Amino acid sequence: MLKKLSIRMKITLWFSAVLIAVVALTYFVILSVSRQTIQKTIRDNLITTVENNVDEIEYYGSLSSDAAGNDIDYYMRYGSGYIEIDDDFLDKVNDICTSLCQSDGTLLYGENPIIRETAGLDFQNSEVQRITVNGTLYYVFDRKLESEGLEDLWLRGIVSETQGETELSAISRTSLILQPLLVLLAITGGWLIARRTLNPIRQIADTAASIRQGDDLKRRIEIGEGNDELHRLAEQFNEMFTRLDDSFQAEQQFVSDASHELRTPVSVINAQCELTLEEPRTPDEYEEALTVIWRQGRKMSRMIRDMLDYTRLELQPERYGKEDFDLSTLVESVCYDMALIQENAITLTCETEKDIRIHGNRELMTCLLTNLISNAYRYGSTGGFIKVCLRFIPLSVPENDADSSSPPVSKKNGTIILSVQDNGIGIAEQDLPNIFRRFYQADTSRSGKGNGLGLAMVKEIAAFHGGEITVESTPGEGSIFSLVLRP
Ligand code: ADP
Repeated sequence: MLKKLSIRMKITLWFSAVLIAVVALTYFVILSVSRQTIQKTIRDNLITTVENNVDEIEYYGSLSSDAAGNDIDYYMRYGSGYIEIDDDFLDKVNDICTSLCQSDGTLLYGENPIIRETAGLDFQNSEVQRITVNGTLYYVFDRKLESEGLEDLWLRGIVSETQGETELSAISRTSLILQPLLVLLAITGGWLIARRTLNPIRQIADTAASIRQGDDLKRRIEIGEGNDELHRLAEQFNEMFTRLDDSFQAEQQFVSDASHELRTPVSVINAQCELTLEEPRTPDEYEEALTVIWRQGRKMSRMIRDMLDYTRLELQPERYGKEDFDLSTLVESVCYDMALIQENAITLTCETEKDIRIHGNRELMTCLLTNLISNAYRYGSTGGFIKVCLRFIPLSVPENDADSSSPPVSKKNGTIILSVQDNGIGIAEQDLPNIFRRFYQADTSRSGKGNGLGLAMVKEIAAFHGGEITVESTPGEGSIFSLVLRP
């Protein structure tokens, strides 16, 4: 049941429940504190009233003529003299009753609403006692009179605790009206704020749903300006959509490029087969046809292999491990093998600085160098040269002054440059920005076994090693490709 509720509803419900609990608790705390305070005030008033009345009682041995003519104060015969009770004596004020009693409990003057019940209650000087009559609690305060002639007399003050009920019920009524109103206000405010705050989440969900339904990766979440968590979440989602869109487009482009490139050899094979099967052929003609088909088949399988290698490196570079290895030795060994080709009477020379080590992948580095040297052979001039050069340029030595004959002290802080130079046909200036793109071939007349993936792969391998590949070329004079690594 709870799972079906929206986040907004859950937050509001939780918030309301806690708020109601807090308000109820506060209500009871307020009532209890008020009750205690009021009761204390009642007791304090009782004590003050009784204490004030103490001075209003005096004893006279005989009645003077002044006193006899005074009809304001009250006189009463007591022992061998008189007791004078001043008119300021408050026998009942604010529901506090004060009475003058003898120590045996006989009431001489004043008021006592529960005289029967207090008859058996011992006098306790300056102490507040409690007595319950018919379920009502009364406070009783006794004060012994100490003036001369009054030693046997007590003042007894009595007040009921219900006296504070009026104030208490007023506080309770105000709380009962105000607090639910405040709770209602808080819940409504909370609900509105939750709705406003969570609105972007609804928009995020709507956009994600519409992308899923319409496959429109170009759509973005628009929730306006802001820097809170939800705006950052929306930003992350938008970045993710952009990346998804990019890789989706790259994949589509790759599929379309690959199918386009494969179409040519497939068409050649089909055409060759149709032509050969049109009429009976001589064994030589069959052999020729099969050779064409075989060549195209090999071209396709090479292309598929290269495409797979390229895609694997582009999409899953983590599949290729890295290790520390001696690049100098690797370059020398690749050059040694490639020098055996001796295509078009091109001479390959290799200049490598010793002990240059890198952290990378041997297989990929071999592939990079093989691709560059193959291209140099393919686009080289007959009888020309290919120069492979591996150098380390330490940080402290400017690149131009670097002298390959003096080995650097440490081969850790500096730049490694691996270059392949030829004096072949070179590359036209307008082709230079494109030659590293997949399937781009500037000079198809020479590409032969190529498929336009070689330099794209070289670029990926350079990036895999945290380096970059650069090219300088002059048409008719030659090209120099350089891999720059900063270990
Ligand atoms: P391809 O299989 O066509 O050689 P690459 O990706 O290796 O594909 O190279 C892309 C294009 O760059 C080639 O078609 C070629 O025109 C040009 N190119 C590459 N290397 C050289 C080079 N050493 N000299 C001249 N042109 C080159």
